[in-house]
Amino acid sequence: MMDDCIFCKIVKGEIPSTKVYEDEQFYAFKDIAPVAPVHVLIIPKKHIAGIASLTEADRPIAANMLFVIQKVAAQLGLTDGFRVVFNTGEKAGQTVHHMHAHLLGGKEMAWPGV
Ligand code: 5GP
Ligand code: ZN
Repeated sequence: MMDDCIFCKIVKGEIPSTKVYEDEQFYAFKDIAPVAPVHVLIIPKKHIAGIASLTEADRPIAANMLFVIQKVAAQLGLTDGFRVVFNTGEKAGQTVHHMHAHLLGGKEMAWPGV
């Protein structure tokens, strides 16, 4: 846990959030500024700054995260498609340096859109 990390505070319940899913390793909650009808953030409870900071010890978290995304997408009824985004680093638009997957759905999405 990092004292000055807003997502660690959300995991600890020190900042309120709208929970969508939780298990031993992960927490998922609604984004405060949604850019799609469904916009959920999925985070490991362990503080990892981002994909670029993953270590070998994080391999189980990295692997399990995709399955949690699958589970949350199914729970939210995103049967006709969804998008998963990991902004990684400042230039890619990462503003919170606690690894998170944006799960986006509920609308037609264009590609490429970067
Ligand atoms: P990033 O830009 O780092 O990829 O995404 C960070 C996301 O976290 C943004 O979409 C932003 O709206 C969301 N966010 C930032 N602070 C909070 C917060 O306090 N609560 C919630 N629910 N979402 C937040
Ligand atoms: Zn954190």
